[in-house]
Amino acid sequence: MKLLIKNGRLVDPVGAVDRTMDILIENGKFKEIARSIKKSSGCPTLNAQGLIVAPGFIDMHTHLREPGQENKESIESGSRAAVHGGFTAIACMANTEPVNDNRSVTEYIIARAKQVGLVNIFPIAAVSKGQLGENLVEMADLVEGGAVAFSDDGHCVMKADLIRKALEYASMLDVPIIEHPEDHSISAEGQVNEGFISYRYGLRGILKAAEEVIVARDLILQERIQSRLHLTHISTAGSVELIRNARRAKTPVSADATPHHLLLNETLIQSYNPVYKVKPPLRTEADRLELIRGLQDGTIDCIASDHAPHTRDDKDKEFEYAPFGVIGLESTFAVIHDRLVRSGLLSVTRLVELLSSNPARVLGLKDRGRVKPGFPADLTIFDPKRRFKIEEKDFRSKANNCPFLGWEGQGAIEHTIVAGNMVFSRKNRV
Ligand SMILES: [Zn+2]
Repeated sequence: MKLLIKNGRLVDPVGAVDRTMDILIENGKFKEIARSIKKSSGCPTLNAQGLIVAPGFIDMHTHLREPGQENKESIESGSRAAVHGGFTAIACMANTEPVNDNRSVTEYIIARAKQVGLVNIFPIAAVSKGQLGENLVEMADLVEGGAVAFSDDGHCVMKADLIRKALEYASMLDVPIIEHPEDHSISAEGQVNEGFISYRYGLRGILKAAEEVIVARDLILQERIQSRLHLTHISTAGSVELIRNARRAKTPVSADATPHHLLLNETLIQSYNPVYKVKPPLRTEADRLELIRGLQDGTIDCIASDHAPHTRDDKDKEFEYAPFGVIGLESTFAVIHDRLVRSGLLSVTRLVELLSSNPARVLGLKDRGRVKPGFPADLTIFDPKRRFKIEEKDFRSKANNCPFLGWEGQGAIEHTIVAGNMVFSRKNRV
């Protein structure tokens, strides 16, 4: 089992590589990376001239809905959507039915992912039993079962004492705690960002403080515990500033932002289209621009989709009754590449850090996020010039609640390679 990739522009930030390189894959692993590798007879070859070859993209925040809500998405449909979007690995959140708060659920997800056999799936277990915010899960047992991180995502861990304990155990186990920062007593029944837009359109607001008080609380606890705290889907300028200051003070913390918070703002809710209903809500243009500055200066480590599929019936309700969330596995790369890289706001190297090497580091996936002999041969190969249009007919996801439908631009996934296997190819429609 060999594959030779020739003439591609390899962008590997951890290895400080950005030049034309050949890559030889053997038995699912990188065998050799060199300026020129001779083609041996019988070895399949992929000519990647004009294409960018990156260590496989990793989406560290997805909801696959299995077990329990396979009408919205399944491990199989989510896997297909992931590789179509260029992801070679994804981490999935614990708010399934039942909740992934015990080893049998974690092991089920891993076994099912292997059966499907398309993308690496890393389960994130709940912090609290049933995600009820009261009692810690058996963290050591879950890590043994294959959980790579812990999060009550969908909910915030509201009790400061519980997140403190979780951070302490996580430190002993050397795993991250991923916080969905939202003080539910402040956000309550809110629908959109609180401010001019919420008043004008008569929708209940969610103060930025709902997020920022939890970010501040967790950073204060973390200052002493020095565990692995990751703050997900950061949405406000205030949160960026809090994280920036914490990093300056050498408090270990990492953070991600979503494509929708990076590219959209609250004015879109004038349409009352529930596809723009997300949590945290779309914020102001000033918040959006500060998130981009956070990507540029290293305050924000990763871009994660928060892929949250819903059935059409569920999402096509009146704004007030529709569920929160959008899908993103199949649009993230394209929209970020076009709007942030082509426009010059981010370099290609920074893009690869945000989508590959940094999520690998945050999740502790030690042999991913770079192209190195002996590491699993996961690659994302894209054409930075090819035009794309985001269309529902192309989605592998069961859902269509994507806020980028109809968007056009440049930058398209050509091949997704997982453990040396071509699991998606634009031309061959694998
Ligand atoms: Zn969340």
